Amino acid sequence: MKTSEIALIPTPRVVTFAADGKTAPARGKPAVSVDPAASAHEEGYVLDISADGTVVIKGHDEAGAFYGLQTFTQLARQCEKSGVLPVVHIEDWPRFRWRGLMLDPARYFLTLDFLKRYVDLAAQYKLNRLHLHLTDDLGWTIEILQYPELTDMTRWPMTPASRNRGVYTQAELRELVAYAAERYVVVMPEIEMPGHNGIPAWALREQVLCSNNPCRDRATPWDENETYKWTEPCAASPTTQAVYENILREVLDVFPGPYIHLGADEYFGLAWAQCPECQALVQRVNLRQGETDELKRLFSNCLGSRDKYLVYRHLMTRMCDFVAAQGRQPVLWDDLAWRGTFPAKAVIMQWHYEGGHDAWQRIATPENPAAEAARAGRDAIIAPYSHLYFDLNSTLEAVHSLDPMPAGLSAPEQARILGPHAPLWNQPQLEMDARAFPRLYALAEIGWSPASPQDWAGFSHRVERHEAQRLR
Ligand SMILES: [Zn+2]
Repeated sequence: MKTSEIALIPTPRVVTFAADGKTAPARGKPAVSVDPAASAHEEGYVLDISADGTVVIKGHDEAGAFYGLQTFTQLARQCEKSGVLPVVHIEDWPRFRWRGLMLDPARYFLTLDFLKRYVDLAAQYKLNRLHLHLTDDLGWTIEILQYPELTDMTRWPMTPASRNRGVYTQAELRELVAYAAERYVVVMPEIEMPGHNGIPAWALREQVLCSNNPCRDRATPWDENETYKWTEPCAASPTTQAVYENILREVLDVFPGPYIHLGADEYFGLAWAQCPECQALVQRVNLRQGETDELKRLFSNCLGSRDKYLVYRHLMTRMCDFVAAQGRQPVLWDDLAWRGTFPAKAVIMQWHYEGGHDAWQRIATPENPAAEAARAGRDAIIAPYSHLYFDLNSTLEAVHSLDPMPAGLSAPEQARILGPHAPLWNQPQLEMDARAFPRLYALAEIGWSPASPQDWAGFSHRVERHEAQRLR
């Protein structure tokens, strides 16, 4: 066995093989323990294989011990044929504390077993966040006890036959959360608002839509090309607010993790512009004082209402305040409406990139939204659609070349960058692997391993080894 045959993903910080390439007999289980003195870093570990075949893994914490075991498993698998292990000392810890993947069961339903399999795949490569896009215009996949209308699939307005549909019970999702926690993966739910809100807008229309929204009329059929522009909830109605708070309370109860994603992308504001209550709110709270020349310019050619950002910011700030009051952190997709004035506890998930086209506001993105968030003292997650939307066609090399750390940040601002995150939108279960792999390896590498050296040749060689093993 040659040490050059060892192909670890992600690359550990420090790997020291015995000088003479000595090997040890592969035998027995590793001795795994938690010893904060062995590694100073959260999620870090030290792994030693001695000449007599003894394997010792010491984690800084339980997650570190788990990651040490993942590294050992990769080594052991690659040494299966030779029956020997390298004598080696490994010290390892992650560059970023957030290493995430997003799946989208609202568009194509994914079974519980499939989600567990993705937890296993993620954990094996030291990813530690699974984000579930649970709700969208096409489906509402989480049982809400107080509003069974949401998961009554006969009420879902758009039901293309080509799509798997389904709903998770709260018990199933709790089972997934526990399964993931055993593998140090935190599951983050996403409940989309105010856009992509088709299911509540249809099933709970009297309770959530603006009083004069044309979609409140039960006789009006859902029009695939039109209705989704009118599904945003009323920002002024106390009933609407209560519905979303009731929903979120149940969701937070199922998902005990620190984060809940509230969506907050792609909204039209057409209903708000015509709603007497929403417009009275604009006057009463004096939302117009939030108008700036820059915002007027950025939204001058947007889809929907040109001052939609005023009502949007008020609505989303209130929802973020509600989540924060429950002791959790709201996560939002980046949006031009904020320009640095983010809600107090919000974490910004960057999906646009500087100079990239914002298809909704129909303008170039003026600044890296993650840098904008970090400068404003908010945590940011890095998911630019150019590189990390795995439903799109970025190459393995492009993902590997992405440095998740935006340029030009101070040290305290850099500490706000949580890490990279790859969304897999709108994929049927059977096609997911072909989208996720091999790019998931590059996601793991840029999330865990040090930024340099950027060893593309070495990395692509290691990917071949892992792909051969995965497809075996
Ligand atoms: Zn309204």
